[in-house]
Amino acid sequence: MIVKPRIRGFICTTAHPLGCAANIREQVDVTRKLGGVEGCSSALVVGCSGGYGLASRIVAGFGCGANTVGVSFEKPPEADKPASAGWYNNAAFDLISEEAGLRSTSFDGDAFSHEIKRQVIDELKANYEPVDLLVYSLAPPIRIHPDTGERFRSVIKPLGEAYEANTLTLDVLKGTGRLTPVSLEPASEEETAATIAVMGGDDWRRWIDQCAAEGVLSDDFKTIAFTYLGNDLTYPIYRGGTLGQAKEHLDQTCRELNEQYGSRGAEALVAVLKAVVTQASTAIPVVPLYFSILFKVMKAAGTHEDCIGHINRLFREQLYGTAGRRIDDENRIRMDNFEMAEATQDEVIQRWRDINEENLSELADVEGFVTDFLKIFGFGRDDVDYDAELSDLASVIRS
Ligand code: NAD
Repeated sequence: MIVKPRIRGFICTTAHPLGCAANIREQVDVTRKLGGVEGCSSALVVGCSGGYGLASRIVAGFGCGANTVGVSFEKPPEADKPASAGWYNNAAFDLISEEAGLRSTSFDGDAFSHEIKRQVIDELKANYEPVDLLVYSLAPPIRIHPDTGERFRSVIKPLGEAYEANTLTLDVLKGTGRLTPVSLEPASEEETAATIAVMGGDDWRRWIDQCAAEGVLSDDFKTIAFTYLGNDLTYPIYRGGTLGQAKEHLDQTCRELNEQYGSRGAEALVAVLKAVVTQASTAIPVVPLYFSILFKVMKAAGTHEDCIGHINRLFREQLYGTAGRRIDDENRIRMDNFEMAEATQDEVIQRWRDINEENLSELADVEGFVTDFLKIFGFGRDDVDYDAELSDLASVIRS
């Protein structure tokens, strides 16, 4: 089979196995070149197959030398259909770990379920040292409550008032974009509560409580979850919207985890990360336009980072660094310091006001956004022959 990108809006329904594997090798190489990090030796990453969770697993494994267990919800290949990108990412991660003599196990299933927690804990008990780092990096659209079976769907909506703005609509295959208006009605109370149930801290706490109760966490474990704050432009749709409410719940959970486990030397953290193109972030309305303006400005300033660069800095400078933490009044680690730098934000806001169809690619990094988007699915690399026939979609990474 020849695998080509099949794209609708910000959804790509195919993924290239060799492109995904090349992406993982590249991120491993970047991490190795930065040298070793004294940090964790046994890590569990919930949401390990893409974006920030994948980068965390790579830095834990190939920066810290940790054995890793990962959990994600991905689709294996079928006879005539490639797997999801995350499935290939996990397969490549496991292969490269094996080559490096690192133990790694990747679980495919619903992180919210009792079953997957059971399987992961059994594996940790059988084959791993107590976990000293648990990264919680889920970005799910729905949650089936493990106790009640109730189904919650998260929504990305403003609160209180409707919100209207422009966003960037891409024709990824042509590499072009155009400005299109979006209008979002405010969320109902029920929708807000559902978003908190999906994206808040309840499941993070369940992972920690269950792992602690079953003795698979070291006494002085660290656990970290990720959040985004953004600026006034994204405020109505992010921080001031349903997602912001869910992230406040995550902050609250972090405080509670510290109260509960701090006395044994454990530490719970929330890190505010920068904007990057991932499957989850491209699903947020307005974000593609803000991100592509931001990337142009940050690239010009020399401060732009991709997922792996950003997470390497998180581990080396803040999580395990000795230089002192950059924390805000909510005790969150601020990794968005370059994104939020005053000169960067002033320039982004000015461009946001000035942008139109004619100057779109001059003021915004449409090309970079398209490249990053295709890369998530293993496409757009120079070192992969995308016309080559792939005989076995499951094992081609190993061949
Ligand atoms: P992503 O889409 O790249 O990855 C999400 C991961 O969650 C994948 O591994 C996916 O398989 C997994 N997942 C989703 N539902 C699951 C389920 N039910 N069970 C098991 N696994 C499941 O997302 P991302 O952008 O890396 O986001 C990760 C975290 O980082 C989120 O909390 C997000 O809010 C935060 N964050 C993202 C950005 C950004 O710009 N992308 C910025 C700051 C913070």
